[in-house]
Amino acid sequence: MALISNESLERVKAAADIVEVISAHTDLRRQGARYTGLCPFHDERTPSFSVEPQEKLYHCFGCGVGGDVIKFVEEKDGLNFTEAVEVLADRYGVELEREQEDPRAEAKRQQRRRLEQLLDRAAAYYGNYLWESKEAGKAREYLAARGLGEEVLRAFRVGYAPSAWDTILIRGQQAGFSVEEMRNVGLAQRGRSGGEYDRFRERIMFPICDRRGRVLGFGGRAMRPDQGAKYVNTAETDFFHKSQILYGVDRAKAAIAKAGRAVVVEGYTDVLALHQAGIDEAVGVMGTAITGEQVAALSGMVEEVVLALDADSAGQEAMLRAQRVAAGRRMRLRVAAMPPGEDPAEMMAEEGGPERFRGLVDEAEELTAFQVRLVLERTDVSKPVERDRALVAVAPVLAGMGETASRDDLVRRVAERLDLEPAMVMGRVVAATPATGGGEEAAAAAQRRAPQQHQQRRPAELTSRERRERVLLAMCIAIPAEGKEYLARLTEAHLSPTGLRAAAWLREHPEDPASNLPHDDGELAGLIAELVIISREEPASHEAMELNYLLLEQRRLEGEIAAAGERGDYERRAALSRERAALVQKIAHAERPAAGTV
Ligand SMILES: [Zn+2]
Repeated sequence: MALISNESLERVKAAADIVEVISAHTDLRRQGARYTGLCPFHDERTPSFSVEPQEKLYHCFGCGVGGDVIKFVEEKDGLNFTEAVEVLADRYGVELEREQEDPRAEAKRQQRRRLEQLLDRAAAYYGNYLWESKEAGKAREYLAARGLGEEVLRAFRVGYAPSAWDTILIRGQQAGFSVEEMRNVGLAQRGRSGGEYDRFRERIMFPICDRRGRVLGFGGRAMRPDQGAKYVNTAETDFFHKSQILYGVDRAKAAIAKAGRAVVVEGYTDVLALHQAGIDEAVGVMGTAITGEQVAALSGMVEEVVLALDADSAGQEAMLRAQRVAAGRRMRLRVAAMPPGEDPAEMMAEEGGPERFRGLVDEAEELTAFQVRLVLERTDVSKPVERDRALVAVAPVLAGMGETASRDDLVRRVAERLDLEPAMVMGRVVAATPATGGGEEAAAAAQRRAPQQHQQRRPAELTSRERRERVLLAMCIAIPAEGKEYLARLTEAHLSPTGLRAAAWLREHPEDPASNLPHDDGELAGLIAELVIISREEPASHEAMELNYLLLEQRRLEGEIAAAGERGDYERRAALSRERAALVQKIAHAERPAAGTV
């Protein structure tokens, strides 16, 4: 698979009908030259989502997402750029041409494909062995006793690893794979004496796949109590990053997208039992908490993630981190309170279990509310020390929620329980740093890695300067001849860092800024889409452009005046102040026929 040629890319974009693509996710209505509807990326009652059919762009004025038709498919289906282009090419019957590329990159891809085949063959071997071999009889009995039928086990390719120490090693080599390759994908490992042996032996094998169903690694469950760890997973490899993968996502993704919700459980057999019971939006984490990376991987597909995990024992740090990532992506994290000591698989085996489980999921509590309640329940309110400790514990959780009605609600609840004034509790919340515990970086890293990037800031969070620069940049698109002059005059003293990048893009692409959006820079692509859409809506005029420019110029002068003051350069400061006075007059003069300002 080499790079898709530019001509092919153009043909895909020309063929794709953005209105049709987006209509599968939300109802669009024509409004003049554009279409509007409820945003498929955030929860809203009045439409703030715009689609521009000529330029094939979308933008949400509510949550700030935006881009072209390829970006939409990337975000909504959780695909990378190439995959999204392939999906669209397929749908609109465009034959993709590939360009020759760097032979080393090609070799690397070839190698990766080989390793994928190796993992797939191993999964097939284990799968056969479970159903065909005498040795796996006990495993079949165990799975049947857990209530798992052959159909679901085959669908998830569950298998069995024989007890011999070198089955996969021998078969792999017979099929032409090297020992090193088997070690690279985590199937073989080296012993203390230097010899190689199969990593998985005498275990029930659960292949762990990516979204597209490609096997990345395995989870293996021990059959004997004296067998060491009950569960052994593939070690971290180039392929397999435990914290990023959701078990069963390949089989759950359609149901998740349809329900707008994912149900997250802890074990492999829990996922199987839920799917068998028709709860197809279930996926599994390989641990006790969901990670920020896993939340990021689900965003775009869902508005809501329900954790049917033992949230009581889960790492609080990890949960708070996941909460932050979710909040940044306008997703809700909720906790379904499982009965103590009972897991979803056990519940599915009971009479009426699936209905009870669905009920728990529907009634799930917000994660933050759950965490606050947990702290309060464990606090002995008769002891001032304990009340203090509780306040210290909940303040960062509440601070992470931002200014919302549900936070005010929780603050009142905390105040009541701890017998404090709500204002006092609120004071502590405002003073607290949002609970990330150093997780901010991890969350940011997760966002970078994830295919979807909702990094845009919501319009409500924009400063007046950012709003002004957006209006001005949009006008530069609307009136390109004058825009060119203004773009040449705008510097980093006028613009925010994002605005500066957008201005550079417009300088480089004066004719058609939206025809080739940067697909490796989601933030910039989204901003350009927004600017183009605004440029089609907002009236632009020479006067309005000049006024917006002067207002940015005033900001620049104020920055320089402050800097001169800090340096102690009072002469310079006085000169700049005179300049500003003249500018303010000019602005007052320009403001009279003002149009299109913010
Ligand atoms: Zn939105």
